[in-house]
Amino acid sequence: MPLSENQATIAVADTERSFTSLPFPDVDLMHIWQLLEPSERRRLRDIRTFLQDRVRPESLEYWNREEFPHHLLPEMAAHGLGGIQLDGSSELFKGLVYVEAARADVSLSALVGIHNELIVGMIRELGSAEQQKKWLPGLSQFTALGAFALTEPEHGSDIAGGLATTATRDGNEWVINGAKRWIGAATMADFSLVWARDTEDNTVKAFIVESDCPGFSATKISNKVGLRIMQNADIRLDAVRVPETNRLPGAKNFAAANELLKHSRAWVGWQAAGVQLGIFDIARDYALARTQFGAPIAGFQLVQLPLAEILGNAMASLSLMSDVARIQGTGDLEMVQAAMAKATTTRLARESAAKGRALLGGNGVTSDYEMAKLFGDVEILYTYEGTYEINSLIVGRAVTGVSAFVSRH
Ligand SMILES: Cc1cc2nc3c(=O)[nH]c(=O)nc-3n(C[C@H](O)[C@H](O)[C@H](O)COP(=O)(O)OP(=O)(O)OC[C@H]3O[C@@H](n4cnc5c(N)ncnc54)[C@H](O)[C@@H]3O)c2cc1C
Repeated sequence: MPLSENQATIAVADTERSFTSLPFPDVDLMHIWQLLEPSERRRLRDIRTFLQDRVRPESLEYWNREEFPHHLLPEMAAHGLGGIQLDGSSELFKGLVYVEAARADVSLSALVGIHNELIVGMIRELGSAEQQKKWLPGLSQFTALGAFALTEPEHGSDIAGGLATTATRDGNEWVINGAKRWIGAATMADFSLVWARDTEDNTVKAFIVESDCPGFSATKISNKVGLRIMQNADIRLDAVRVPETNRLPGAKNFAAANELLKHSRAWVGWQAAGVQLGIFDIARDYALARTQFGAPIAGFQLVQLPLAEILGNAMASLSLMSDVARIQGTGDLEMVQAAMAKATTTRLARESAAKGRALLGGNGVTSDYEMAKLFGDVEILYTYEGTYEINSLIVGRAVTGVSAFVSRH
């Protein structure tokens, strides 16, 4: 069946249909949205409409070109997406905003999540009053952007012990040397939050390194198979000098980073739930529209099976994450729960993406039909914020008391 050449138009038309005439239009079979207060439910609906109407259709071309749609940032700010960490929103509301963002576009949901969890969150939790005053107002409006620079070319999974970027105190300044890899938004951010090892006491500290500092450079990493809108970068730090006032006083050791990573791992769980709703939306619309053997393929048993499986995976992920939000709300979230949720939901998302991709047949391998975009994006969710294996090892260590990160042989 020939589908229209204008996929952006189709996306919008399908979106309108998704939320009006289909059974279970919101795909919230487990009534998670109903756990929100009415005011948050209304706000979430507005945000979803904006994300589906504006962000989803536009994101496809930007994803294909590996470019960032800067013009969407003011609109995202107008919907409060730059400041959900600061406006007193409940954990469940924040999580469901991350779901709706990932359902519309995974790359922009990564920007929103890293921004709120790791940039705004880090400056709010670990920054000085002066740093908070300088950066938080602009960040909350997306007129300022930051990048979270932890991973290095030679140290990914073993970054906690292996971090090799150095910071050496020189009077009232620090001299930073090293390299970072994969750093999201670093080519367009005003500053990077750089984690570096103090050469004097060997502890890990964090610094605000503004992008115009001499010795700082960020080079875009191209040709990614997923998250193509996000501008990930290789960073070089060659004798970069920053004042002592740019050191985050609360970032005293790697445990401080881990505390942030616990919540950002949970955020990836929400992304994984959201992308599966997107996969379901696209798969269901396609199954109803595509005709083979003289009938819509939605009427074939072997097409309904993957639809039911994707939906089941999505609902399992969403329900698990709403329990994570409940535990976050009481302040009791531990790394084991965040790691388990991240590993489980991204495993399910990868399975859902493969099933969704296959359901579209040949059209599943071209991003013109959207699904291939999500198929690639899911690979990033599976790997960043700790790979699937590393998060599983965190769970394994917690439930056995035995660390298996390093081979004992
Ligand atoms: C698109 C993208 C965006 C990212 N954004 C950021 C960012 O903004 N900021 C940032 O700081 N980082 C970022 N990262 C980095 C990300 O967190 C790392 O890629 C991830 O932690 C894995 O590190 P690595 O790529 O070096 O893989 P490696 O650590 O080299 O791992 C390679 C393989 O070995 C496995 N492995 C490693 N150790 C063990 C072990 N002990 N037991 C079993 N298996 C093991 C891993 O699971 C993996 O399969 C991003 C990465 C990507 C791809």
